[in-house]
Amino acid sequence: MNRRKTPSLRTRLALGYTAFFGVVLLLLGIGVTLTVRSALRSEMERELDASGELIQEDFDATDTGLGDYFNSPAFLQRTRPLNVEGLESPSLYVQAANLAGEVVVTSASLQGQRLPLDATARTTALAGHTQLSDARLGDAPVLILVQPIRNNQQIVGILQVAQPLREINRTLQLLSFSLAAISLIALLAALRGGAWLAERALLPVGQVASTTRQIVRAEDLAQRVPTTPGSDELAQLTATVNEMLERLELLFNAQRRFVADVSHELRTPLTAMHGNLEILRRNSARDPQALDLALAAMEREINRLVRLASDLLLLAQTEAGLQLRREPVALDELVLEVVRDLAPLTQGVTLLPDVTEQIEVLGDRDRLKQSLLNMAANALQHTPPGGRVTIRLAREHTHAMLQVCDTGDGIADEALPYVFERFFRADKSRSRAAGGAGLGLAIVKWVAEAHAGEVSAQSTVGQGSTFTLRLPLASEPGALVHP
Ligand code: ADP
Repeated sequence: MNRRKTPSLRTRLALGYTAFFGVVLLLLGIGVTLTVRSALRSEMERELDASGELIQEDFDATDTGLGDYFNSPAFLQRTRPLNVEGLESPSLYVQAANLAGEVVVTSASLQGQRLPLDATARTTALAGHTQLSDARLGDAPVLILVQPIRNNQQIVGILQVAQPLREINRTLQLLSFSLAAISLIALLAALRGGAWLAERALLPVGQVASTTRQIVRAEDLAQRVPTTPGSDELAQLTATVNEMLERLELLFNAQRRFVADVSHELRTPLTAMHGNLEILRRNSARDPQALDLALAAMEREINRLVRLASDLLLLAQTEAGLQLRREPVALDELVLEVVRDLAPLTQGVTLLPDVTEQIEVLGDRDRLKQSLLNMAANALQHTPPGGRVTIRLAREHTHAMLQVCDTGDGIADEALPYVFERFFRADKSRSRAAGGAGLGLAIVKWVAEAHAGEVSAQSTVGQGSTFTLRLPLASEPGALVHP
């Protein structure tokens, strides 16, 4: 595909800014020109009106005929060039016509030329009205006022008073040129200024982009984008990018650790099975006892692998949003069932239920049983023969409380905060010998949270541990949530 290269954001911003500025200047220029034009023309219209009135007054005063008046000194006085404020004295053209529209007299300023008098202007004047119109005198544009000449309220002729528009047009032309030149300079300045501003504003964005690119190239998620002070959009962008990098780093490290842990957990039983296979190959035919031992060891390792695989599968499903069932679960029955299931595995430890009432929660029976089994199996495993493990069920306000207490080894204070993490073992050699991969309590924690509950641990080394699982009662709203 042929992709056209788009100009940089900086160029686009500068061009957009300049274009906008250009439109504003254009509108301003048009506005100023129109206002000045209208002001100048009104001024001229006023002059024409005043001249027309003066001539009429003079005419009234002389009490002579039309032809006589227009040759009088008073008329000549009136038609001398007038001073119009702000303009070089433009000429005043005066022309009089009789009722038939025939020109009776023209002012000397017209130099023999005649002002055009069309039929409409004539009719308007004869009807007693005045009319202003644009016309041309030879090549030059003029503004003409046409009005009736009265003698004792009687219309006796038509008066035309005019002034050339040349001066006004020249002024407007000059104004337009100046405005255009100023606008051009302003636009060039805006283009440069806009480019400079855009460059300054976008500099930190460029830095964020190049640092991020470096991070991607070096695959070093520990790097961070330099933060900008303040709380503007750029500071927010850098903060967000850094937050994202931090999350990515955490996830990436967690995944790396997870893969390492899983490989490690798989290697141990596989190595053990490999050793047993060696023994079998060498001795099995001659030594049936060795055969039994090796097979039993291999069965243990296979069980361990199967448990590991199912725990991993469950954890993977929790991450993929496994849907839990939501059904009433009688916790009192569940406790008794777990005690029954574990009875053959107590090995000299007393395992007792402590249930005094029926308590129901809403949730997934299999997952809740698995959690209780995990906690109770841990307790049995870490309690020496002669010790005691109690599974207690009680009601605590809006929650059901399941407690597994043992009188075993206990967990060291520094290890206690981590027991619910995946692959964590407080006492590595011992737990591995007993077959745990460090996933049991991670599963309990997930199940607790998926039921809108929580799990916690207290322990004293040498005295024992207590694991407490709190779940909302079935009667409570929102008794089951999915993470
Ligand atoms: P594992 O499969 O190793 O039992 P868990 O997640 O169930 O994994 O437990 C994590 C670690 O917490 C165990 O390896 C063990 O060291 C410690 N632990 C758990 N329960 C107890 C307990 N009742 N007494 C002493 N230590 C315990």
